[in-house]
Amino acid sequence: MHLARFPRRFIAHLPTPLERLDRLSAELGGPDIWIKRDDCTGLSTGGNKTRKLEFLMAEAELMGADMVMTQGATQSNHARQTAAFAAKLGMACHILLEDRTGSNNLNYNNNGNVLLDHLHGATTEKRPGGGDMNAEMEKVADRFRAEGKTVYTIPGGGSNPTGALGYVNCAFEMLSQFNDRALKVDHIVTATGSAGTQAGLITGLKAMNAGIPLLGIGVRAPKLKQEENVFNLARATAEKLGCPDVVQRSDVVANTDYVGEGYGIPTKSGQEAIRMFAELEAILLDPVYSAKGAAGLIDLIRNGHFKKGETIVFLHTGGAAGLFGYDNAFDFAGRWS
Ligand SMILES: *Cc1c(COP(=O)(O)O)cnc(C)c1O
Repeated sequence: MHLARFPRRFIAHLPTPLERLDRLSAELGGPDIWIKRDDCTGLSTGGNKTRKLEFLMAEAELMGADMVMTQGATQSNHARQTAAFAAKLGMACHILLEDRTGSNNLNYNNNGNVLLDHLHGATTEKRPGGGDMNAEMEKVADRFRAEGKTVYTIPGGGSNPTGALGYVNCAFEMLSQFNDRALKVDHIVTATGSAGTQAGLITGLKAMNAGIPLLGIGVRAPKLKQEENVFNLARATAEKLGCPDVVQRSDVVANTDYVGEGYGIPTKSGQEAIRMFAELEAILLDPVYSAKGAAGLIDLIRNGHFKKGETIVFLHTGGAAGLFGYDNAFDFAGRWS
């Protein structure tokens, strides 16, 4: 598979590290746990959207865009990485932020990713939760176009076949790291939301005949809906790559038992995962995505689904900047003496 055929604007710090989590593995007493550090992609505190944006922003440059637009939740990591990438390329960036949680918390609405959006020079607008955000974005983009701007619009999460190429590439990168270290991997686990990460990974893994099952831990949609979203995007991505039937429906597996009350609302098991990763491994997770993914990983080890003798790779998709929008989700009164 020949990814160099597709336009790409190189900016991410790649390859990201692959590390063994010694203390977490010992604490849980189950499989060997490794982590793929896509929280370290290097752009404005890192994260998974940077890989997708390398392909998306190259398209924006090719069409001569002087402005990019995207949309996401208030504490969107995708919005923040888009704002940063646009700054680097000297493009304007306008973002629609959807109020999915209804939170009035000051830090949630102004700190964390929102602070970074604005620091990178992006302008933002709010929308109430539950609307068709991609349609809304196209409406606003047409307003800018009428003023003479050349606008490239990026769907939520950067999840279309162009963006998913970033995670086809990540599948190649991981497999070569496994091979170089003679690391026999039994499962890869990652958080899954707008589907581009899981869709790109499964397309790359299947195209290489890796033989490694991939499990997505959902953060929003119910299981069947999430799997359908991932499968449809994987099919479209495979078609773009010229191998249309490489992904079967049964290759796409999501577990959505760790969503809790809803998107962007912290869970107890996610808070426990944040503390375990921070205290045992000095790794920062975020409450919206990676903590729920890690909560799934931890629970599936504790209940024996993942076993001693196996090797599990957890793909860390980033998001730590969001912690500063969620400080009220933690109670650290006991740490003061
Ligand atoms: C966007 C995001 C995800 C989910 O990736 P998708 O490609 O949208 O499924 C996971 N973790 C973090 C930190 C994210 O920002």
